[in-house]
Amino acid sequence: MARASRPRLNRRVPTHQLVVADATLRGRDGRWQIGVDDGRITAVGADPLSGHEELDAAGALVTESFVNGHLHLDKVYTLDRIGDAALTAYTSGEMGSALHSIELASAVKDDYDRSWIEPNARRAVLEAVRYGVRHVLAFADVDTKARLEGVIPLLALREEFRGVVDLQVVAFPQDGLLRDPGAEELVREAVELGADVVGGIPWIEHTDAEAHEHVRRMCELAAARGRRVAMLVDDAGDPSLRTTEMLAAAMLQHDLVGRGVANHARAVGLYARPSLERLAGLAKRAGLGFVSDPHTGPLHLPVRELTAMGIPVALGQDDVEDAYYPFGRHNMLEIAFLAAHALEAVDTAGIDLVYDAVSTTAATVLGVGDHWLEVGGSADLVVHHHPSLREVLAEHAAPAYVVASGRLVASSTSTTTFHHDRLDEGVIA
Ligand SMILES: [Zn+2]
Repeated sequence: MARASRPRLNRRVPTHQLVVADATLRGRDGRWQIGVDDGRITAVGADPLSGHEELDAAGALVTESFVNGHLHLDKVYTLDRIGDAALTAYTSGEMGSALHSIELASAVKDDYDRSWIEPNARRAVLEAVRYGVRHVLAFADVDTKARLEGVIPLLALREEFRGVVDLQVVAFPQDGLLRDPGAEELVREAVELGADVVGGIPWIEHTDAEAHEHVRRMCELAAARGRRVAMLVDDAGDPSLRTTEMLAAAMLQHDLVGRGVANHARAVGLYARPSLERLAGLAKRAGLGFVSDPHTGPLHLPVRELTAMGIPVALGQDDVEDAYYPFGRHNMLEIAFLAAHALEAVDTAGIDLVYDAVSTTAATVLGVGDHWLEVGGSADLVVHHHPSLREVLAEHAAPAYVVASGRLVASSTSTTTFHHDRLDEGVIA
C-alpha cells in the first residue's frame, strides 16, 4: 500500500500527544482514529483527532504490539559457536535425542561470558523493537556451567530497554537442579539480583520423584520471593512425561495461581484425549498459561485443542540462530505465519488464533494486564502495511510504525525498483 505521509506536526491545536489516524481495527467496521496520552490509549473513535504527532495508518490494520512468550535470549546467535550436531539431535523428536541435544548444546557454555553474550542479546532486543515486540519472556541459563554470565547482561538490558521492550528475565536451571548440584544456589542468587521469574526444567531430572522435588523447590522459591514461575516441561516425544501436571499442581499448593507458564510441553501432543482434558482442567484451576513453538520441532502442544478448552496458549520465538533452531528474526508475525502451517490454522479462525497467540493471548499468559487496544489500555501498537490480517500474515513484514509506551520507536518500509524496460508497468515485453 502506498504511504505518502510520515509523522508530522499538526497545524490545529492538538488534543492528544499522539494520534494514529485512519486505522483499520480487528473486528470493527470502518476507519478509526486512536488518541494516545502519557503512554495510554485515551480515545478510539470515528471522528478526526489531532495530535502533536500524527501517524497515518492509511487504512492499514493497527493492533496491539507483539508479545514473545518464550526466548532463550542468552543463547541467540550462538549456532556458529557450536555446529549443528545438537540441532540434528533436538529436531529428531526422540526423548533420548532431546536429552543428548541439551548435552551437546551445553558446549557453548564452556566459554560462557557476558562480554560476548551482551552484544548478541542486545541485537535480538533491537530486532524486537524493529518488529514491534513489546514484551519478552527471556530465559537465561543459570547453572554450574553458565553461572550468572547469561542472567547479568539480560538484567542490564531489561533496565535499559524498559518501556520499549520489557524483558521478564527467567533464571533458568537448564541442566536440572538435582542433576546439577550447585544450580539451585545460583538460581537463588539470580533472583536476589532481580530476576523476575523462577525457571525450571523438571522433565530432565532422572526420576519422577526428583522432577517433583525440582518443581516444589522452584515454586517454593517463587512464592517466597514474590516471583512468577516459567518452566520447560515435557519437552520430548514421550507421552508418559507428566511434569506439566506437576507444575500446575505445585502452583495450586504454593499460592501461585495465575502466575505460571508452561513452555514447550511437546509430550502433551501425544496424550490421549482423557489425559489432555484432565490436564486442561487442572491448568485452568491453577491459572497456568502455555507457550508453544511449533516451528522448532517435529512435535508440539495441541494449541488449537487447548485454546478451545479455554486455556490461554501463546507462541514463542524460542530460539534465534542457536543449537536448537537455525533461523529466527525475533519477528512474531513470522512465528505466527509458521504456526499457521504447523497447526493447520489457515482459515479465518485459525489466523485470528495465531495472531492472538503472539499478541493479546500472549500478554495474558505473561501476566501483562493492560495490553488491549481500547481506552485505558497501554499505548503499545503496531501499524501494519495492509488492512487484513491475512495479508499482514502473508507478508510478515516489519510494521510500518511501532509505538511503545505512547512513543514512536521504529518505522519500516520495503521498496523494490524494477530494472527492466516496462516491468514497473507489469509487463516484460
Ligand atoms: Zn525453549
